[in-house]
Amino acid sequence: MMPSSDEPDVLDCLVIGGGPAGLTAALYLARYRRSVAVFDAGRSRAEWIPRSRNYPGFPSGISGHELLVLLSTQASSYNISLISARVDSLARSGDLFEASFEGGTALTRSVLLATGIVDIEPEIDGHDEAVHRGLIRYCPVCDGFEAADKRIGVYGAGTGAVNKAKFLRSYSRDVALVLSDDEVLDEEDLRASGIRLIRAPDRLRIEERSIVAVCNEGETTFDVFYPALGCKAGSSLASRLGAECNDVGCLEVDAHQQTTVPGIYAAGDVVSDLHQIAVGTGHAAIAATHIHKTLPPNPR
Ligand SMILES: Cc1cc2nc3c(=O)[nH]c(=O)nc-3n(C[C@H](O)[C@H](O)[C@H](O)COP(=O)(O)OP(=O)(O)OC[C@H]3O[C@@H](n4cnc5c(N)ncnc54)[C@H](O)[C@@H]3O)c2cc1C
Repeated sequence: MMPSSDEPDVLDCLVIGGGPAGLTAALYLARYRRSVAVFDAGRSRAEWIPRSRNYPGFPSGISGHELLVLLSTQASSYNISLISARVDSLARSGDLFEASFEGGTALTRSVLLATGIVDIEPEIDGHDEAVHRGLIRYCPVCDGFEAADKRIGVYGAGTGAVNKAKFLRSYSRDVALVLSDDEVLDEEDLRASGIRLIRAPDRLRIEERSIVAVCNEGETTFDVFYPALGCKAGSSLASRLGAECNDVGCLEVDAHQQTTVPGIYAAGDVVSDLHQIAVGTGHAAIAATHIHKTLPPNPR
């Protein structure tokens, strides 16, 4: 790892997570001439994006994989250590933090968590391939526009699923909420919003260009299918040190992206309900700049 000016074995910042938020934070910190390492367990949600058409600067769109390659290439042109490893735990060590990973430990003055979320997936054969083909989608904010006038299914239960279905009505008249369990809900509210209700199907089937919900009453075919089963935020490394989380498990941060544990920052999906690359890279710029300003000065 790149040595810091006065203490060779202490990083200025250890970034956990090498998705768009983590790589952007590392880039900013390296350009502030800070020693930084990025640890990444290799499961960025961005890898799932077949083609993003709402990330600014790419008029023909860009796949998530291509974007990650560009971000890693940009980060690699600075003295940033990119390490493929999961950080297993984080502990205090005096004024510093110590991160443990398979094969070693690293000491750092500050930590930026960009660990993202993990979507809860429906049990359906061929799920991964269907995401890559754009049949199964997770983010209406990202690609609802491309679902215009299609037969859209939203699969889940509770307020989150209902809200997702309502959001998608901006794009299509043909939106159905496919219940994932036997939940009782306000059918009148759905009817008033122009959303059909389909009771919990026996199974879901992926076809060449569609997804089919199979029930006793018959089959319903969808062009695109949005699971709304929730997600798990990667906040545990910080919450174990006392960082506060909101009711969906995302880390609470202040205006500088600092968690309630001084010295630990967070950026991207692990913080925000608006799971967007632009939001994550914005968080990263804010956090990295505050980290730089609060670390001991590094005059040339
Ligand atoms: C199908 C799909 C399509 C999407 N389309 C778009 C789109 O068009 N536009 C858009 O703006 N957004 C889109 N998104 C959302 C976008 O992918 C996320 O908002 C973005 O990837 C979040 O970036 P992040 O850096 O916060 O987290 P991630 O990209 O998820 O990266 C987090 C990284 O942290 C790593 N990690 C977690 N825990 C540890 C640990 N303990 N140690 C080391 N590493 C760890 C993970 O393995 C992962 O690599 C889409 C998402 C999906 C699933």
